[in-house]
Amino acid sequence: MKILVADDDELARVGLSLTLKKWGYEVITCGDGRQALAHLNDPDGAQIAILDWMMPEIDGPEVCQLVREHNIEAYRYLILLTSRDSKDDVIAGLSAGADDYLVKPFNPMELKVRIRAGRRIIDLQNELIQARNILRTNATTDSLTGVWNRLKTMESLNVELTRARREGTSVGVMMLDIDFFKQVNDTFGHLTGDAVLRETASRMRELLRPYDFIGRFGGEEFIVVVPGVTAQEAMVQGERLRMAVGATTIDTADGFVGVTISVGVSLFEPSRDGGLALEGVLEQADQALYASKANGRDRVTLYEPTPAGNA
Ligand SMILES: [Mg+2]
Repeated sequence: MKILVADDDELARVGLSLTLKKWGYEVITCGDGRQALAHLNDPDGAQIAILDWMMPEIDGPEVCQLVREHNIEAYRYLILLTSRDSKDDVIAGLSAGADDYLVKPFNPMELKVRIRAGRRIIDLQNELIQARNILRTNATTDSLTGVWNRLKTMESLNVELTRARREGTSVGVMMLDIDFFKQVNDTFGHLTGDAVLRETASRMRELLRPYDFIGRFGGEEFIVVVPGVTAQEAMVQGERLRMAVGATTIDTADGFVGVTISVGVSLFEPSRDGGLALEGVLEQADQALYASKANGRDRVTLYEPTPAGNA
């Protein structure tokens, strides 16, 4: 574990870092508060810091205060070193955001147990962050395929449509469905069906650009969103997805299983569809998907608006 030692007194700095290294810590040192602050505000910075009270540039309590204001995710456990020990100073230091303080000259054993207390706090907080991240992933991801779940996909699509309206750009929305998927399940069972779903999602995901996204809409149905494309580009992307899924069979525990997908493409353009909400965009993609199914499956169809006056 890394510890930052910030003290303008070189002798004190070197002595303290020797002690900490002897205890097995990796030590980073600096001689003023500005450097200490920069280090602590770096996401990869030490999580424990021993800060001298009186330092050039920025003093110890102010470093504490500024670190708290920056509010970096991983907790910083801050110990102030002071030669002052009046109650007022201690209160000032702690209310500036320090977790603990030591009065110089300090007893090394006292320092050791205080650092240990800091480590406990940091370990607990890191575990909390990890647990929260797992919850977050579970709340946004489809556990079978690893792509986004329906809720997260809808939220993100909404964000994309809003952005497109604001910036006057387009959004390609594709509804995709594995053809005759029920037969896969009926023939091979659900485990193989699950393997097919996973591999289908994985093949499609590999083809996406960094700003595209894919979600599982339910059952064997997926949504792929490709922002900033023309209708033709969206169709090309749909074709690539269709080929990636259908070109080679999928290796499962029951042997090789071949599936194809049908794709419906809708292009959202604010100039044309400015008033269209999320449901309208999905409805169009769904109609195009239905056309793909009706025309023999394993194909990509672009939604064509009904000519005006013909509705
Ligand atoms: Mg000093």
